[in-house]
Amino acid sequence: MKKRAVHMVGNWKMNQTLEEISHFFIEMSKMKMELKCKAWIAPQAIHISILKEIAFTTGSIQIGAQNCSEHEAGAFTGEISALGLADLGVEFVIVGHSERRTLYGESNELLNKKVLLAMKHGLKVIYCVGESLAERESNQTFNIIETQLSVGLKNIPVELAHLLMIAYEPVWAIGTGKSATAAEAEEAHAFIRSKLTTNAEQTIILYGGSVKPDNIDSLLCNENIDGALIGGASLKAQDFRALCSSGSTAMM
Ligand code: PEP
Repeated sequence: MKKRAVHMVGNWKMNQTLEEISHFFIEMSKMKMELKCKAWIAPQAIHISILKEIAFTTGSIQIGAQNCSEHEAGAFTGEISALGLADLGVEFVIVGHSERRTLYGESNELLNKKVLLAMKHGLKVIYCVGESLAERESNQTFNIIETQLSVGLKNIPVELAHLLMIAYEPVWAIGTGKSATAAEAEEAHAFIRSKLTTNAEQTIILYGGSVKPDNIDSLLCNENIDGALIGGASLKAQDFRALCSSGSTAMM
């Protein structure tokens, strides 16, 4: 089975000092020749320019953002503009991470505005969906995902659909050390793909939730899992390298 391009995407959240970043890239550069999959990192917004510069020099990693505003421009203190990200040459933006949904109350309707604005400026969008533990236990998983998709991805122009990527991240698996099983993840990914009305076969669908070097291979074996969105394990170069190595092997 030929895999869609495998993507390993690190979400660094509000972590990493300049010294840690420098160390990370020195370690990562050691595997440059083996890298066949896409290796992407979303650092804190304040570090995007620095990482863009380092990534340009090392040549193997693309840089993205963890969030963007739903507003085009103006008096929105502290916000991150999609146009500003595009201006910097940023590759992608994560929209709707469960921490944004739960800690900052971002609704599917609000996220839809972010998705459309980011795409308008040519950014690839990693749109996150996933159910909480209570929702899974009450058999709501597929309803929840369906609503997140239908509202959050409303009105995407057909000509911009190629910019969409999706991350299935069950909330109960994020940062808990308890990953979904490969079968649970594949079931959700197949469901998500079945709901996409444009570009369904080509759309990259990532799994996120306690991905580590020791569980990535079993996830990547599945037809609808095209890579991973990785929190904790992406902070350590050794782990991220191992994940990228698995991603590269899955593409051969
Ligand atoms: C995430 O934050 O998107 C994530 C999946 O975190 P972790 O890999 O640490 O579970």
